[in-house]
Amino acid sequence: MGGLFLRDGPLRVLSETSANSAFKILKRRDRGETPAEIAEKASEKLTGYRFTRTVSIAPVAAAENNSYPGDDRERLVSGAPVEDDSSFELKLRPQRLAEFIGQKRVKEQLAVAIEAARSRGEAMDHVLLYGPPGLGKTTLANIIANELAVHFQPTAAPLLQIKGDLTAIITNLQDKQVLFIDEIHRLQPVLEELLYSALEDYKLDIIIGQGPSARTHTLEVKPFTFVGATTRAGLISAPLRARFGIVLRLEFYTPDDLQIIVERSAEILGVAIDKAGAKEIAGRSRGTPRIANRLLRRVRDYAQVRGAGKIDEPTAKAALELLEVDHYGFDEVDRRLLLTIIQKYQGGPVGVNTLAAVLAEEPDAIEEIYEPFLMQIGFLNRTPRGRIATQLAYEHFKIAPPRRQASLF
Ligand code: ADP
Repeated sequence: MGGLFLRDGPLRVLSETSANSAFKILKRRDRGETPAEIAEKASEKLTGYRFTRTVSIAPVAAAENNSYPGDDRERLVSGAPVEDDSSFELKLRPQRLAEFIGQKRVKEQLAVAIEAARSRGEAMDHVLLYGPPGLGKTTLANIIANELAVHFQPTAAPLLQIKGDLTAIITNLQDKQVLFIDEIHRLQPVLEELLYSALEDYKLDIIIGQGPSARTHTLEVKPFTFVGATTRAGLISAPLRARFGIVLRLEFYTPDDLQIIVERSAEILGVAIDKAGAKEIAGRSRGTPRIANRLLRRVRDYAQVRGAGKIDEPTAKAALELLEVDHYGFDEVDRRLLLTIIQKYQGGPVGVNTLAAVLAEEPDAIEEIYEPFLMQIGFLNRTPRGRIATQLAYEHFKIAPPRRQASLF
């Protein structure tokens, strides 16, 4: 994999999350690590990403001056995982379909497919799961393997760089197991082609040797169930998409479902919470279980330190206020995004690249992380000419829409 990262040269990173993790590592001078050791670790974090932003790591001091705008700002209400999520998520992740809350339609379809595959004793059809981050794609892939009582192997497309990476995984598959590839839209085209025959005929064509002496060998692969996950279904090529027998879209969760998720997580974490407290957290979680679990953990800390240990409505409200998570679960970036459209561009339309530049964010992050929820609650519209703030957004910020806009509503 290595080789994507120039040790003393420019460090290029893709997403806010990867940039943040890298910068956290780069700032760890106080731990007595040498710049080379720090660079090595940052490189591990970033290997495999498609690189778009350039940051120089040579002067580590620059990183200490917060030269990267996303640095230090751990986004509490991001659907994407942040660093300390993983250990908690393991505990909170539902293991069986019955424990998985909400997404009724998706669950129903999976239950039928699982039951059918089990009764036939075959591998289940390949599944494509798509939807914004944090809605349970990895969790569902894991559940499919548990329900089928087969081995589960997760990986992510950015980690697969050369044909050998994928060939090794596919040739080592166990019978009927589940292979999960996250961020499948980032799979390189050559690897995608390699995958086609494995998915369709359980065969893998590999070329041995080079030039005139090159030979093609076809390897038999054990039947397996492929589960692909993506936040950007539109970026998946038609041939790959056609190879999925089951295509499932995950929706944002309703406040009621999220309340149940919060109560379930609180029970697992051993925190006392009442219905009103759970409702308060659920309401500000942007329809996303990962955010609900994260807010619960923060509110739990507050309840232990400032309250009596129990999460009730006043405690939850006070904690969330302190964390600056407002009624809709908006944080600073959402507010800046909407206010930029309203104040700088008269409500829009404004192109996503312009917005990204003004906000110092990646266009990808805006499209994948911030916008879906703002559109879901009707604050933002995507049009062919750009993004438009809706009347609801104006009302939320108590700003009067300009006359041109007002006539549009
Ligand atoms: P994704 O892969 O879509 O980014 P994950 O599957 O990693 O999301 O889900 C993030 C976390 O949210 C999981 O660890 C799990 O605890 C929680 N979660 C997701 N969906 C549900 C659900 N339906 N019920 C309960 N918890 C859920």
